[in-house]
Amino acid sequence: MAERKETESRKLLGRLRDAMAGAAAGQERLDKITHLIATSMQCEVCSIYLFRDEDTLELCATEGLNAEAVHETRMKLGEGLVGRVAKFRRVINTPDAPQALGFRFMPETGEEIYSSFLGLPVQRLGETLGVLVVQSKIAREFSADEVYGLEVVAMVLAEMTELGVFVGEGAAMSARHTQSVLLRGIVAQEGVAEGHVWLHEPRVVVTNPIADDPVRETERLTEAVDALRMSVDQMLTMAANGDKDQQQVLETYRMFANSKGWMRRMLEDIENGLSAEAAVEKEQSLARARMTQSTDAYLRERLSDLDDLSNRLLRILTGQGADTGAEMPADPILVARNIGPAELLEYGRSLRGIVLENGSVGSHAAIVARALAIPLLVHAGRITNDALNGDHIMVDGEQGIVHLRPDDMVANAFRDKIAMQAAAQERYSAIVDKPAQAKCGQVIALHMNAGLMADLPSLRSSGAEGVGLFRTELQFLVRNKMPKRSELSALYARVLDAAGDKRVVFRTLDIGSDKVLPYMKPNEEPNPALGWRAIRVGLDKPGVMRMQLQALIRGANGRPLTVMFPFVAQFEEFRAAQKEVDKAMAREEKLGHVLPSALEVGAMLETPSLAFAPEKFFEDVKFLSVGGNDLKQFFFAADRENERVRRRYDTLNVSFLTFLEGIVERCNRTNTDLSFCGEDAGRPVEALCLAAMGFRCLSMRPASIGPVKSLLRRCNLDEVRDVINRARARGEMSVRSDVMEYIKTQHQT
Ligand code: PEP
Ligand code: MG
Repeated sequence: MAERKETESRKLLGRLRDAMAGAAAGQERLDKITHLIATSMQCEVCSIYLFRDEDTLELCATEGLNAEAVHETRMKLGEGLVGRVAKFRRVINTPDAPQALGFRFMPETGEEIYSSFLGLPVQRLGETLGVLVVQSKIAREFSADEVYGLEVVAMVLAEMTELGVFVGEGAAMSARHTQSVLLRGIVAQEGVAEGHVWLHEPRVVVTNPIADDPVRETERLTEAVDALRMSVDQMLTMAANGDKDQQQVLETYRMFANSKGWMRRMLEDIENGLSAEAAVEKEQSLARARMTQSTDAYLRERLSDLDDLSNRLLRILTGQGADTGAEMPADPILVARNIGPAELLEYGRSLRGIVLENGSVGSHAAIVARALAIPLLVHAGRITNDALNGDHIMVDGEQGIVHLRPDDMVANAFRDKIAMQAAAQERYSAIVDKPAQAKCGQVIALHMNAGLMADLPSLRSSGAEGVGLFRTELQFLVRNKMPKRSELSALYARVLDAAGDKRVVFRTLDIGSDKVLPYMKPNEEPNPALGWRAIRVGLDKPGVMRMQLQALIRGANGRPLTVMFPFVAQFEEFRAAQKEVDKAMAREEKLGHVLPSALEVGAMLETPSLAFAPEKFFEDVKFLSVGGNDLKQFFFAADRENERVRRRYDTLNVSFLTFLEGIVERCNRTNTDLSFCGEDAGRPVEALCLAAMGFRCLSMRPASIGPVKSLLRRCNLDEVRDVINRARARGEMSVRSDVMEYIKTQHQT
């Protein structure tokens, strides 16, 4: 019996393939398919519903229901039995449809006379494209074999939809990959970019979902799985002495690669008429569907491992390696699920923009993208499913929007926006050599933040007075092993060479929280942002800090050196760090190295506690730099990486400004140099308010220097301060709208 069923399924797939091979239009093909399925399943009705938009399904073809209902009958996700199949991505198999939970009567289809209902999601790689339904008058439940057979058909349908075989005149719908898509994401690096998609991991395209020689397909699958197993074993041998986590992942890969259940299910699919590739993809689809539904983080990770392994297997089978032979477009916009900092650095500045499906604003990749000044959006829907290599794409890193395959109207509006930005850039370059002098005469020093050698040329082009924050951890994050002292000192020397007589503030290693070094044992902490990070790690495990201080002294090689410690929460920590510097100097001198001609040691003020440190601290520390990103998150108790709470509190909230004002006053009283180097320093309105509150030095990403300088030069800081004071006296929560009103009255220079 089972043997006969398999043959039936294969026969049906064979007929489907023949139906597809003719040069019929999209609608005709769909009609043929519904007819073939209904006949083969001995059912009166077979219907195909496809998504019209994100939450509307449309009846696109039917055998048995009223033909007039085609393209007329629509339902929302979750509505009726069909909507429920799509929403929950589950099969509904019932002998008595009108009595089933969620049934909705649709008179225009004439379906009330059909008792039994079998509906399956048409899904590909975890994405539901539509619903396939068969119905019959006789009240019966469909057998497991029948359900399974139809699942295989649904899978092939999904592949065909993906390949766009239903497009054409009178088409049911245009191919998914030809439609314009608008995706929303979170801005991790501002800027706008137009270009063409370059997929970091190109999707494997299965062009032959149906195969009629199961023996041959079984052979192909077995060979490919053997090759896969061998490559996993090889990777394991290579990783034998290395990282434990990597080994664990590979062990999981090996377990999956040797899983009998996985193999058996794929072989069954082949018996039922699928090609080896389609069988792999069917399993992968199921895993992805489970992945999106599971709330268990461990299970999700394992399913993600399986997903990765399936991709490898598909590449072996199709010969479409990571290198597909496709050429990177001249204006590439990188699209990926996620990417590591090292991989991103390899692409370097060739990229126009980056769009990630996962990732986070504070991730390493985001730090690198920021350093490279490449617009980056994270959490951008399911972009890796929607985009194909070479697609036209526009990234709006101001609004957090991606336009994929935009229509002309959108593209033109977007280009206007780019042109406006270019015009603004021109205005900025006209003032690059002018000081950031406000109308009241006050001059604000504008410095830039950096972290890579590649940033240094911006020192000249942006007009920055120096590097106010050099994030040294980037050099540690982009490697897969701890950098050597000699490597670091050579790098610091090159940074100082490139900076010439401009000052560079080297911040010592700021790791922990979200910045995890791949080669250091991760720390399971319930609240890593409040955990063992930055100077806390440096002081508890001083080996790395000492090595870095030596590298800095050697890199300076007789030139002035400025060192800053991150995340100092109390005076004692600064004292201990200062002692380490003193010891390093003494040691270097003893070893005969040239000492820096001048040495300044400062601290970052990133926790509210430090603002209330003893007066002696303010007297002892050479300078302070407010790390507004961290300070703000601790001031408002709002995680800087949690998108839900991050935007809730405005930097221009009067409580925060009053707090900053207190810091300025203490520093003025004690003659302590003060700057602000968080991201807010690079936002023009915020920068203006910081200057009005008394900050005389701001450090920001190079691209922000022009806009900030331009606004400062248009405004009078005394007047801004009055605006702030008046808003504060009125009891406003934020001074933003008042300051914006003031700015509007100031003329463009
Ligand atoms: C800050 O916290 O404001 C800062 C500059 O440091 P980072 O963003 O690297 O934590
Ligand atoms: Mg910080």
